[in-house]
This record gives sequence, structure tokens and C-alpha cells, in this order.
Amino acid sequence: MPITAIGAKEQEGTPCRGWACTVNVIPMSTEGGARRRVSWDEYFMNIAHEVATRATCDRKHVGAVIVRDKSILATGYNGSIRGLPHCDDEGHLIEDGHCVRTVHAEANAIVQAARNGMRIDGSAIYVTASPCWGCFRLIANAGIVKIVFGEFYRDPKIFDVSQRIGIELVDFSSQRIGIELVEFSKTTL
Ligand SMILES: [Zn+2]
Ligand SMILES: [Zn+2]
Repeated sequence: MPITAIGAKEQEGTPCRGWACTVNVIPMSTEGGARRRVSWDEYFMNIAHEVATRATCDRKHVGAVIVRDKSILATGYNGSIRGLPHCDDEGHLIEDGHCVRTVHAEANAIVQAARNGMRIDGSAIYVTASPCWGCFRLIANAGIVKIVFGEFYRDPKIFDVSQRIGIELVDFSSQRIGIELVEFSKTTL
């Protein structure tokens, strides 16, 4: 299955190569040194990284932002059950190689929306790392229709299942590996 690229041709060596995810290519200014205004995807992903700084399990700090119509509906980061100590305070709680003390960022964002009575059906979620299978199932059944992830974390099942149920999956890691710089240099040589 070829990669469907957003506004760009197929790319080599991307984490989702061979799966039906999208590669995000950032449009660059054509004027050297000119300030480039961040895209909406960059804007919300930047905020997701900021949200991640509140995470309390240092095995992986993850942040999530739920968005609809360019407005933030809810945010979440991975942390303990309310009222219980955090990994940073008491250490991890490891089962089967994973820390199970924390509620994941995506789940906490969905929970925050529920606590505040915020409808998230038809929204997008920006998350700094791709959802685990458990969070992916919550995202799907919450009616979220687009997932933008900053890096691939685990569970490639999300690529196939997203396509089957119509969730748009956007791999934003290309921003970090410089695809936009390659494309930019090709057009200016
Ligand atoms: Zn932990
Ligand atoms: Zn998860």
C-alpha cells in the first residue's frame, strides 16, 4: 500500500512506509530568512509537546490535544490516577514490561472532555507519540476522526485499522527528519 502524501510526492524511509498513513510535508517559505508562520498542525503539535512537560512517568512523556475547528477542546498527559502518587514520586509500576501506574495522555484528554461535558465527536487529536492499542480503541469509539502523531510509539495495528474505519492518520515525524528541508533544497537548486 503506497503512502498517501499531503501536498507532496511519496517519501522514502518514513516510519509508516508500507502502510496507509499520510506524510506531512511542511510548506516552506521561498524567501531566504523570511519568518515562516507555523501551520495549524505544527501549532497544535507544539502545544501537545508543551502539555507533555506535565507528564509524570519518565519512561515516556506524552501530551495530547483534542481539537475541532481550530479550537482546543481538551488536553491530557500521562499521569497517575487522581489522588495517587506519581511514578516520579514512588517509581514505576511495571507489568509485562510496561508501566501501568499512569493513565495515558490520549485517555486523559478524552476523560477531561467528559468531565467538562465537551463533545469530541468529529474532532482531531494531536499526540506526541502514536497511540497504543488501548488508547486507539478509545479514540476510535470517541468519534475522533483524525490522529496526528509526533513519533511512532508502538502497535502498527493502528495503520491498518485506521484505514478500515476511516480515521485519518498523519505521521508528523517527517517534520523532525527534515523532509521539508530536502524538498525545499530540491526546488531551489
Ligand atoms: Zn511510570
Ligand atoms: Zn495509550
